[in-house]
Amino acid sequence: MQAEILPAAAVTTIGLGSSRKVWFPENLTELKELVKRGLYPLGGGSNLVLKDEPDRELLSLKFLKKAEFNGNHLKLGAGVTLREILTLQSQKGFLLLEFLAGIPRATVGGLIAQNAGAFKKEVKELLESVTFITYNGEVATLTKSEIEKSFGYRESPFPKTGVVVEAVFRITPSPVNKVKRLIRHYLKKRLEKQPPPVKTAGSTFKNTPAGAAGLLLDRCGLKGFRVGGVKFSEKHANFTINEGGSFKEFEELIEIATQRVYSTYGVKLELEVKVV
Ligand SMILES: Cc1cc2nc3c(=O)[nH]c(=O)nc-3n(C[C@H](O)[C@H](O)[C@H](O)COP(=O)(O)OP(=O)(O)OC[C@H]3O[C@@H](n4cnc5c(N)ncnc54)[C@H](O)[C@@H]3O)c2cc1C
Repeated sequence: MQAEILPAAAVTTIGLGSSRKVWFPENLTELKELVKRGLYPLGGGSNLVLKDEPDRELLSLKFLKKAEFNGNHLKLGAGVTLREILTLQSQKGFLLLEFLAGIPRATVGGLIAQNAGAFKKEVKELLESVTFITYNGEVATLTKSEIEKSFGYRESPFPKTGVVVEAVFRITPSPVNKVKRLIRHYLKKRLEKQPPPVKTAGSTFKNTPAGAAGLLLDRCGLKGFRVGGVKFSEKHANFTINEGGSFKEFEELIEIATQRVYSTYGVKLELEVKVV
């Protein structure tokens, strides 16, 4: 089984923290073996921040590239990227994840685990079933009704209960021109709100019942606020940007923001990014 020690910048979009050993299984037997070792599943690293803990090893799902159509259902392997899905949508003519266009590096596994969403739509709504490997090495499947019950806002049972291998999505056939137009539309809307390509892990905190996390941070004067080389974006306060900073600085920034929002609004911010 292959493993490589990779720098944080090669593993995550924000590029903070220490280098990590990443395992690259090439088949299901190897994958099961590695899942049983309790390795932490890695998608595109677009919602992930690495600590300075080189001992915690990661598991790449890159080899899981299945894309199988069956009527209005599409089975996708956990390693298929959002970019690959959007290309498939534009070629074959169907609606699925166009509302997420513009998210860099995300994979099916990460999109499901984080129940990614934007513009009032979530991945959960499109899922028919999810197949995963438990940490005992057993293959299990979540049905549509189980998904409805167990997924929430930027939450799912994964990776806590296991590693996603593949999932069946419900697709909506649509003319290629319309699909392409919608992808462009969502991309444009996203670019209006988010910072240009920089080292970030997307939204740092989950939104709260008291308001969007970005708005609360902004009102607490934290837009553009920095600790060393890590700062909140001037364009969207909930995006943390790495400008040559460290994990320690990220931690400090999060601590300051959490305290300031709590003392001002009595709201406890919860991290959306996963820290491992
Ligand atoms: C510029 C930018 C914009 C973004 N915009 C949005 C947005 O609009 N909406 C949104 O929801 N998110 C957004 N994100 C966050 C991120 O892209 C999503 O959360 C995405 O779903 C993460 O996918 P990933 O493959 O990169 O997962 P990773 O970041 O690699 O992992 C995220 C979590 O998923 C788990 N995971 C990954 N693969 C598996 C698997 N096979 N089985 C079990 N668990 C797994 C990981 O263990 C980790 O807990 C944005 C990020 C960036 C950088």
